[in-house]
Amino acid sequence: MNQVPTVQLNNGTLMPRLGFGVWQVPDAEAERAVATALEAGYRSIDTAAVYGNEGGTGKGLAASGVAREELFVTTKLWNGPKQTWDRDAVLRAFDDSLGKLGLDHVDLYLIHWPRPMREDFVSIWRTFEEIAASGRAKAVGVSNFRPADLERIARESALVPAVNQIELHPLFPQAELRAVHAERGIATEAWSPLGQGKELLTLPAVTGIAAKHGRSAAQVVLRWHLQLGNVVIPKSVTPSRIRENLDVFGFELDAADMAALDALGAGAAARRIGPDPAVFDV
Ligand code: NAD
Repeated sequence: MNQVPTVQLNNGTLMPRLGFGVWQVPDAEAERAVATALEAGYRSIDTAAVYGNEGGTGKGLAASGVAREELFVTTKLWNGPKQTWDRDAVLRAFDDSLGKLGLDHVDLYLIHWPRPMREDFVSIWRTFEEIAASGRAKAVGVSNFRPADLERIARESALVPAVNQIELHPLFPQAELRAVHAERGIATEAWSPLGQGKELLTLPAVTGIAAKHGRSAAQVVLRWHLQLGNVVIPKSVTPSRIRENLDVFGFELDAADMAALDALGAGAAARRIGPDPAVFDV
């Protein structure tokens, strides 16, 4: 049933290359959405403390009856402002996430944003080293880290983040970060892989390739990611789309398709949908 290929992270952990994201899914709906995704065949779920739906996500995981060892659960530390993120605060936040999820470990724990102006992500990472050593997170990583932030972690810690989860889609292809990740042994995970389902899915370049393959625009974009080597976590609460987004392993884009999609965000055409990690601190 589970046909999703995996990537081996730098500590040996296997991570499905396609998972289910639950940002903006209300807690009360998360149980059903996660259950629908697991029933469709997803095994990887991406949540975060700040999404406010770890509780509903945990209920969906429990109700599914899928064995824990088959699941890959990611959550993230909301290292938000108005608090000093010392060791105790990080460990408390981690315990709180595990409690809400109803799990004794997660597969991946991420620092949600670098917030470089706060100058505290290296000390947070020290506590992540401890969490990784305890086995309560099978792997630890970061999200929204820039090349300079990864360089700083490399200078000050022997533990290489397993994953950097970043905004990435054809309109914002992040070529520099993907090259840095490849060099450092960090898996690239794309957030908003469908460009949040907006402009990107209506562009003639995308809909034309979709028509050529008899597939949807969303499926074409997800194929682009997979063929580039990205891990993807598309979100939907619509059961038919949840299934559609998983059904992307039975066709392939050719070199001309890939080049046309690469061109959408190349050079000066690149544009973000979400915040810039250099300044984001809310
Ligand atoms: P996405 O790119 O996955 O787009 C989701 C939207 O696209 C849906 O709400 C729907 O409107 C549309 N859509 C989904 N499937 C479709 C289909 N088959 N056909 C047409 N439209 C479709 O956007 P996202 O939710 O922002 O990102 C995915 C996940 O990434 C999130 O749920 C979250 O888990 C993660 N994320 C992480 C961060 C971070 O800072 N680490 C930030 C944003 C998102």
